[in-house]
Amino acid sequence: MKIIDLRSDTVTRPTEAMRTAMAEAVVGDDVYGEDPTVNRLEALGAELTGKAAALFCPTGTMANLLAIMTHCGRGDEYICGQDAHCYRLEGGGAAVLGSVQPQPLEFAEDGSLDLERVARLIKADDVHCARTRLLCLENTQAGKILSPAYLHQAGEFCRERGILLHLDGARVANAAIKLGLAIAEITRQVDSVSLCLSKGLGAPAGTLLCRSREFVTTSRRWRKVLGGGMRQAGILAAAGIVALTEEVVRLAVDHDNARFLAEEMAVVGEIDIDQATVQTNMVFLRVRDGREGELTARLRERGILVAGRDGVRLVTHRDVTREDLAVVVAAIKGFFREKVAGR
Ligand SMILES: *Cc1c(COP(=O)(O)O)cnc(C)c1O
Repeated sequence: MKIIDLRSDTVTRPTEAMRTAMAEAVVGDDVYGEDPTVNRLEALGAELTGKAAALFCPTGTMANLLAIMTHCGRGDEYICGQDAHCYRLEGGGAAVLGSVQPQPLEFAEDGSLDLERVARLIKADDVHCARTRLLCLENTQAGKILSPAYLHQAGEFCRERGILLHLDGARVANAAIKLGLAIAEITRQVDSVSLCLSKGLGAPAGTLLCRSREFVTTSRRWRKVLGGGMRQAGILAAAGIVALTEEVVRLAVDHDNARFLAEEMAVVGEIDIDQATVQTNMVFLRVRDGREGELTARLRERGILVAGRDGVRLVTHRDVTREDLAVVVAAIKGFFREKVAGR
């Protein structure tokens, strides 16, 4: 049985071009700064995000943690979304390892954080309070794109308030392709950005953390402290270079496929889907009678894997084709037909 895995775009496997690049990579010891392939990837990442420097990190979790630990010190605070990856899905690393307190608030419907609410959460300079140092945004957030106008406002807001702005840009390339903008045009307003190579871009591992040379020097120190100083990391970086040079444009196919899936789901009476949220490669469904678990289990029997935390999440990526999605659509429609027939 063919497995169709829609749980996440993290399941993508390296392309042939990546495997070839990895096999042929010229490497050195990156802890000494001597891996030419890592250095090439970092230069490319800096250029693409319009920053002076970049740091190759093993994971996005580490890149976000490094950003928080570099921007903030012990007793400082970062403001972020209640469902932000860097708060909810990274084991509380900023607090556990960085001594930095999170101040979460609900994301708005469009994936942004309401800046008036953020303003009210910035603590007074008072011995009772943690020092608010940083605002973290996410783009895309649950597949939704932050508008360039909002990012501009957020940038101005942070500069006025004297706080820093970090973008968890795990999928910022998806946002860029969908908007028809260069990644640097999206990241111009933010102080730092993390960009995952291992999601829709298909590399086996790695995230770039980008900002100034000074910032990257400090982050590099923390990366070593956290055990993330890898040696011949050029083997991985080689795949990352292919990801950035060959795979960014292809993300548009994932977006078209998500749209196809969303449109097919819209005609299923038992399913609730908010078409406005389907902007890149993620589709969220709710089953009207709340039987998401039953649907998920039935799909699993057919070799179709989906994620379910809040409803059902389907993520399109380079390893699922339009034909695979037709199979998925038929399986979902079939599930509801059976239910109507009372089987
Ligand atoms: C995947 C992801 C990360 C990083 O996750 P890793 O698995 O540690 O690479 C960070 N932020 C968001 C929004 C993500 O989706």
